[in-house]
Amino acid sequence: MRSEFVLLLLVGVRLTLLADQPPGRSPLVGQIVSEVSAESLRATVEKLASFKTRHTLSDTLTNTRGIGAARRWIKSEFDRYARSASNMSVQYFPTTAAPSARLPHPVKVVNVLAILRSGASDPGNGGMSGAGNPVCLLLSGHYDSRATNALDSVSEAPGADDDGTGTALVLELARVFSKHRFRTTIIFAAFAGEEQGLLGSTALAEFARENGWRVEGVLNNDIVGGILGGGGEVESTFVRVFSEAYSPTDTGSVFRQRNLLGLENDGASRTLARYIQEIGTQYVPNFNVRLVYRRDRFLRGGDHLPFHERGFPAVRFTEARENFDHQHQDVRTDSGRQYGDLPAFVNFAYCANIARINAAALATLALAPAMPAGSVIITRNLEYGTRLTWRKNSEADLAGYSVRYRETTAAAWQYTRFVEDSSVTIGVSKDDFLFGVQAVDRDGNASLMAIPGASGR
Ligand SMILES: [Zn+2]
Repeated sequence: MRSEFVLLLLVGVRLTLLADQPPGRSPLVGQIVSEVSAESLRATVEKLASFKTRHTLSDTLTNTRGIGAARRWIKSEFDRYARSASNMSVQYFPTTAAPSARLPHPVKVVNVLAILRSGASDPGNGGMSGAGNPVCLLLSGHYDSRATNALDSVSEAPGADDDGTGTALVLELARVFSKHRFRTTIIFAAFAGEEQGLLGSTALAEFARENGWRVEGVLNNDIVGGILGGGGEVESTFVRVFSEAYSPTDTGSVFRQRNLLGLENDGASRTLARYIQEIGTQYVPNFNVRLVYRRDRFLRGGDHLPFHERGFPAVRFTEARENFDHQHQDVRTDSGRQYGDLPAFVNFAYCANIARINAAALATLALAPAMPAGSVIITRNLEYGTRLTWRKNSEADLAGYSVRYRETTAAAWQYTRFVEDSSVTIGVSKDDFLFGVQAVDRDGNASLMAIPGASGR
């Protein structure tokens, strides 16, 4: 009798523990991740390199060489995916860039976009208008390339790794995602004019800001295929994700509140980076995401910055070890050493793992319920525990909320408490921890982290 009682007790404890945990991995996200193909990435990078140069000032008329041929081919690939997906539309997004140090005369810079509309909303006007201000996600790479001299529009500049790999990753995920339905609209962007000063991405970021787009996350991939570093070391086990702490828009009361609550490490882009690391590594075994708490590498920049600087959460993916012999270099051999950004120096198995990390994070974001609104830590009274509240989500398939917390000096979330209600009391002191709340659906898709403010000071 006594042993049965103990057994019942144990079963009870086990059920309580299970009820405290969010649902596990989403089968659909697992399937999407499994559909990413290294061979498909290889074919795209080789095709892009075959245009010899994709310099912003290169030829736009022939169909075999130069940036015009490249963008028409990219559009034709997007069009091919869109033909079997009624909710995907494809368009050029042109802008005329003014002369600058890297641009001797005005030039038309043309982004190529594929927009996969959510099942729930119709953004209208091909998804490009601000009507309805739909929430959207953006996956990007840049398809322009350069040789040693930034103004050289004629020399060979195959741009296999920089950024043929990022562009191939965007095309590959557009192909895979076009076969599935999502709650959130996703824009797949092949940016132009990156090497001449982030021209294409700046134009789209400005358009998004002016039209009140609610861009929930920008995943920018730039140089994501090399495993042999310039120092001769091989590293294929992780990708770096760069994120800046504050956006220049985090001023005034936003800055003061964040500083007051110790949230200097929980800005929108940093929170997105942490999310990508958590979700990505859940679905991609034996591969890691190394977060770099910095906007970019020294002396370098990328297409995430125009978005981050306008207050949109935006991060940059870059390979673990770069090799400067194969970036921004004329194709040549010098003392037996091969220079140039050639497809031979891209490792497509590695690039595919980075694509899978992107796919897991992007699919989860696009499938998840909305981020909980109005979350606060109740700070009215001196209390030993922590009380948090937020507004209820409205999704029919909502399972509940993952309340996350970590010590104030911890880089990543440490603890999870899963609840079905829209409030919780946790038995740790609010003085010593940072908190976040995610909405989770029944398949286990978790939203971005809402970072609570303080109520009742
Ligand atoms: Zn680049």
